[in-house]
Parts: sequence; C-alpha cells; structure tokens
Amino acid sequence: MSVAAAPAWLDEERLDESAPVVRVRQGLDATRQARPQPSAQLVDSFGRVHRDLRVSVTDRCPLRCAYCVPLDDPRPLPRRDLMTAGEIVKAVRVAVELGVTRVRLTGGEPLQRPDLPDIVAGIAALPSPPQIALTTCGIGLDRLARRLARAGLGRVNVSLDTVDRDRFKLITGRDRLADALAGIDAACAAGLRPVKLNAVLLPGGNEDDALSLVEFALARGCELRFIEYMPLGGRRPWRRDQLVTADAVLDRLRARYRLTPLPGRGHSPAARWLVDGGPGVVGVIAAVTHPFCGDCDRLRLTADGQLRSCLFGNVEHDLLGPLRRGADDAELADVLRGSVWAKPPGHGIDQPGFHPPSRPMSAIGG
Ligand code: SAM
Repeated sequence: MSVAAAPAWLDEERLDESAPVVRVRQGLDATRQARPQPSAQLVDSFGRVHRDLRVSVTDRCPLRCAYCVPLDDPRPLPRRDLMTAGEIVKAVRVAVELGVTRVRLTGGEPLQRPDLPDIVAGIAALPSPPQIALTTCGIGLDRLARRLARAGLGRVNVSLDTVDRDRFKLITGRDRLADALAGIDAACAAGLRPVKLNAVLLPGGNEDDALSLVEFALARGCELRFIEYMPLGGRRPWRRDQLVTADAVLDRLRARYRLTPLPGRGHSPAARWLVDGGPGVVGVIAAVTHPFCGDCDRLRLTADGQLRSCLFGNVEHDLLGPLRRGADDAELADVLRGSVWAKPPGHGIDQPGFHPPSRPMSAIGG
C-alpha cells in the first residue's frame, strides 16, 4: 500500500490555544489547594488512591509524530535539567513507599537514555520493587530488549500506527518502520510479554490501517490498543471532529472479527475485547469520548522532575528542586502527596474553558 498525497491532518496549522503551566514549589502553593491530610498513601481530594507512576526519562525522541510533536518543535531540555538516574530511582522509591505498585518509564523516547538499564536495575533493586513497564517507539529495542529484561523490566508497550512503510514515514517523519518492527520482535523474544502495541488513528490518514494492525498484532501474540487522539501537541490544533473515535474503530473491527468484552478493567485506561473467542485481545483507550478519570490512579513525573497528577492539567509540582537540595524522604513524600491531592476530578476536555496543556505529550511523557 502506498500513499499518493499527504493527508490533510499532516498539514501544518498554527493556533496557540494552550494554557501556561503553573509551577508549584514547596511553600509557594500557587493553586491555593488545601493541604492534604497526612496519609501513608497517595490519595486525592476525591478519594482516588494512586498506585501508578509514569516517569518520563527524557524529552528527546528520534521520531516526529504528526499528532505528538508540536509545530514549533521544542528544543530539548538542557541535559542538566533532566533528572539523573539516581534522582529517578529516589523519587520512585519514595512513591513506592507511598503505595505505588506500577512504574512505567516513558518519554520522549526512553531508549534514548544510555543509562536506562541502570534506571531499571535501580528500581528493580528497591526493597518492594514495583512492576516495571516501558513505553517506547521500539527503535533500538532490538539491541536492548534482553539487557532490559535482565535488569528487571517486566513489560513493554510499543507505539505502532501503521505497518505500511510509506505511511510510517509520513506519520513519524522518519523511514524507521523496519527498526520499530525489529524492536517488537526482540521484545517478544526477550519475554517482555504481553507486548502491547499502541496505535493512534487519524481520519483520512491511517484509520484504514486498523485491520492490518490487528492482523499484525494477532500474528505475533501482541495486544493492540487504539488510543483516541488527544489534545496534547501535534502539528495542527486538536479538533474533536478530527477524531477517529473508539466506537468508530470498534465498528470497523466488528466488520471482520467477533469481539467479546472482557470484564475486570479496574484502573486500566483500556477497555478490552477478545477477538474471535481469543486468545487475541484488542483494546481501546477512549480518553476523549468515554473518559475514565473517575478510576484514574496515575501520577506523572516529567523528565525535568515535575509532578503532574493529570495528563491534561496545567499544574506541576516541583520535585527536582527538593531532590537537588537533598530534601529528606518526608519532604519528598509531602510534595508527592500535595501533587496528588490537587488532582482535578476530570480532564475537562469537554468543558467550554478547556485549554490543552502547553507542554506536549513528548515533554510530559505518555
Ligand atoms: N516514544 C515513546 C513511544 O513512542 O511510545 C513514548 C512516548 S509517546 C509520547 C507515548 C504514547 O503517547 C505513544 O503511544 C503515542 O502514540 C501516544 N501519543 C502521543 N501523542 C498523542 C496524542 N496527541 N494523542 C494520543 N496519544 C498520543
């Protein structure tokens, strides 16, 4: 399959409607949130207990995905502003002591960090180690999968929006499909299972890749999840009417496969279906059309050490400052609790006053 002309969603369009980030530093609570009750857990003011920490280890990425990297491709953070491996492990240790049981390393592209195996090993060596997962574009995973598995990595999610080389190049700006596929095969061979594949579909772009992606995933025993395009960067301003909804994807899949819903979603962002009675599974992450904020137990730490309790929020709590001034565990725990406590009830994409965060997904960490 080849693509004759670039689809409209690859065109660039400028419209700055993002909201500035409010940084909260210790003692300067710009949000004027009530202080959280001292608690052994990371609990927000709506009672949601947080067990999932996503850590962006770098904002650098070899790909320039149309829906992720903004038009004004931001300069990468200065290296001195990136958390060191030791700072990441320390932040994770304190979070684990506060009840976090799952840690996902992401970015940017986490494989861009040469010390990623050390970060994984450091987390795996904690007294009560969490489950460790990685989200990656797969480029370079062929060389690293076994080493990461030995270091303690448990699972991997690889982003793959198409299995067509020309389309891959159009979407990501790079001719690297073969490298991504080699990474997926290496992850499977290294036992980093279940390998999950993440796809973002865009209308008039790769939406008709849905079926070939399912075929690809089923043939490798991977679980494919379709993520709705969210207002988090990209070359064009996000519009709700330019969304391939989860329901539209499911309709497309039902034309070929029998889908049986799987119960027991828990805190997972994905609703999952057995394909033709199994064992193959597909999922949809309908963050826009069927939000799951009420069950959200996720907290994010950006590569420059800022805590974000909501992917779409504009408030960040500074953890890097306290880490670098040698704050003790109690103070770090306070910052973590404060960030979670200030979490909004929902992402508010459908609210009239919604403005997307000024930091794109590539900087926040997906
Ligand atoms: N570089 C890694 C990768 O490619 O998976 C990790 C970072 S990437 C930001 C994490 C995930 O966010 C990817 O699965 C990507 O498809 C998804 N993503 C990025 N921008 C998005 C957007 N605007 N809407 C929905 N998903 C997005």
